[in-house]
Formats: sequence, C-alpha cells, structure tokens
Amino acid sequence: MKKLVIGNLKMNLLSPQERERYLEFLSKELQGKKLKNTEIVVCPPFVHIESFVKSVGKKVRIGSQNIFWEEKGAYTGETSPVMLKNIKAQYAIIGHSERRRYFGETNETINLKLKSALRAGLTPIFCVGETKEEKGMDMTMDVIVRQIQEGLKDISRVLIEKIVIVYEPVWAVGSDVIPTSNEIMGAKLLIRKILTEKYGAKYVEKIRVIYGGSVNAKWAKQVCVDPEMDGVLVGRESLVPHEFVKIASIING
Ligand code: PEP
Repeated sequence: MKKLVIGNLKMNLLSPQERERYLEFLSKELQGKKLKNTEIVVCPPFVHIESFVKSVGKKVRIGSQNIFWEEKGAYTGETSPVMLKNIKAQYAIIGHSERRRYFGETNETINLKLKSALRAGLTPIFCVGETKEEKGMDMTMDVIVRQIQEGLKDISRVLIEKIVIVYEPVWAVGSDVIPTSNEIMGAKLLIRKILTEKYGAKYVEKIRVIYGGSVNAKWAKQVCVDPEMDGVLVGRESLVPHEFVKIASIING
C-alpha cells in the first residue's frame, strides 16, 4: 500500500500570482522524482482547485479542505462534493480541528459530510484527535473512540475502506510540539481496534491511518516511519514545496 503525504494549504495563496508561484515551485520539486511508494495529495482553498488540477493534476492528487453534506440547492456559501468531483478533486479533508473549533463542526455534522463525500466518490480524509485539555485529563482514548464511532455512524463496511483516518492531536497542530512515536503508535492501534470491532478485520485491512500535527522533514521519521503510520497530513510545511517534497521523499524510503 502506498504511503499518503497530504498537504493542507489552509487559507493561503492570496492571489493568482502567489498560486502560480507555488505551482511552479511544486512542479520543479516534483520533476524527475520517482516517489513510487508515495501518493501525494494537495488540498488548496476551493478557489484554486481547478488551477491545481490543470497544473499538477497528473503528478499529484487534489483535494478540498471541507465540503457541505448536501449535493445541491439553497445553501448559500457552501460547496457541494459533487461540484468538487466534477472538477476532478479526489479527496476531501473532513472534521479538521480548525473546523471543529471555529465553525462549530460536531461529530454529527462530520458524519453527514463523510457520507456525502463517499456518495460523491471523493475519498474522505477524516481527522480525529484530542485537545490539550482532554489529554491533560487522560481522556485521549475516550475522545478518539467517540469521534470515530459517531463520525462513522451508518457507514457500511463496503465503504469504510475508502476512508483515510488522520490521528491529529489538536495540541500538535501549528504548535511545533509532537507526540512520541509510542503515543502515535498507541493511537493507531486504538483506531484499528475500534474499526475492527465495528467492521471486522477483513474490512479494515486497507484503511489508511496517518498522522498529522507539526510534521516537518526533521520529524517525519519519528511521526510516520517509526510508528509505521500509513502517511502524514502536513500543514505549514506544505506551503514550502521544497520541504513538502522532502517529507514525501523521506516517507517514500
Ligand atoms: C494541519 O492543520 O492539518 C496541520 C497538520 O498543521 P501543521 O502541520 O502546521 O501543524
């Protein structure tokens, strides 16, 4: 199974010029690189998705940072998963901690979004993880169990293998503080256990469980290679194509 290296560009690249410069650098970094064990996914803001598909869509896959759960209609300001699929996006980040925190996303709305992404044929990148306070209260396991059980409610075993799960402790996002390899491995085992109990071993073998939170080239081994994760979700460092592709090369092995 290929390792996933996903870049979440967040609300950056403010002008067409900035976008074009980023794409030029990313193309240069990817040129001639044979990363055959790795699948790279870049998630730009909605307004740049078509340009990314046109420019680098043959070398990397493109995803969105969010979606809405309905397909069409009177939902001012929202973006349909079908619209994204039709402009050739393939992935969608769902339940990122910034969306939970600033936009009131709950396990329930995240569940609706996961289902609508699957219906539209997008691969959901489903983020789970505890806050600093929850970690301090020794609640990490409870939080992850709840996020997964409620997030995956009514999702069938046939569809479950399509979901990518990100263990992204909220305290590690944007903080330059990372968990130990053992903590990451512990979270991965817990996630696999919950999924196995819910769906059966046969159906969860192919599910990719990746790590996110302050990933950089220096820490890529500790957060991905050592705990045998199936990839990483990269925030800030994905804005620097040289660093992002360096992370992918380390993970590619
Ligand atoms: C993220 O927001 O998904 C993320 C991992 O951010 P950072 O790498 O900047 O911590």
